[in-house]
Amino acid sequence: MSLKSIVLTIVIMAVLSSMSHAFDPSPLQDICVAVDDSKAAVFVNGKICKDPMKVVADDFFFSGINMPGNTSNPVGSAVTNVNVNNLPGLNTLGISLARIDYAPYGLNPPHIHPRGTELITVIEGTLYAGFVLSNPGPNMKNRLFTKILKAGDVFVFPFGLIHFQLNIGKTKAVAISRLSSQNAGVITVANAVFGSEPPINPYVLTKAFQVDKKVVDYLQSQFWWDNN
Ligand code: MN
Repeated sequence: MSLKSIVLTIVIMAVLSSMSHAFDPSPLQDICVAVDDSKAAVFVNGKICKDPMKVVADDFFFSGINMPGNTSNPVGSAVTNVNVNNLPGLNTLGISLARIDYAPYGLNPPHIHPRGTELITVIEGTLYAGFVLSNPGPNMKNRLFTKILKAGDVFVFPFGLIHFQLNIGKTKAVAISRLSSQNAGVITVANAVFGSEPPINPYVLTKAFQVDKKVVDYLQSQFWWDNN
């Protein structure tokens, strides 16, 4: 291998390793409890570390995930998130949790987690769950993967892909999800596209969805419930 190709290899490896940091950074210390203190100087992934001498056990504690969310809403589901915002000890650890409650035939509508993969476990009930691949084809283009999940079943929604769960049972359903980020985020597709503030120019949506402007006007006039 020539010196030139060795240098090129090192440069390519450096670029690839920096690209892999789209995920939460690896922890640089044992703990970094998030604190709202603008005087502290060091930000890690958007949060500041609490003085380790002031850290207490409760910084790593959350209670109430046994409590069902209120599913009396237009989509019939409720997500209870346990992430760095209400469990500050999760800061820099690259993991979080959610409880999802579904009314009979309730839907957790198509959404994306921009910063995490989701591992869902059904605790109770029966869900029809699925996710859609990205555009690049030719054979896999926007391919849909679905599965009917019962209590004890586990399913993965890969990083950044559109996914959903529908309760297909006559009874309520409950699921627990782990997400590979301290703050995975959520983009509910319908809410983001038709419920943005200010609204997206209707001409953009008319062209994008290949429908009449009346249809876009109707969709933009709806109230888009956020189940998170
Ligand atoms: Mn999800």
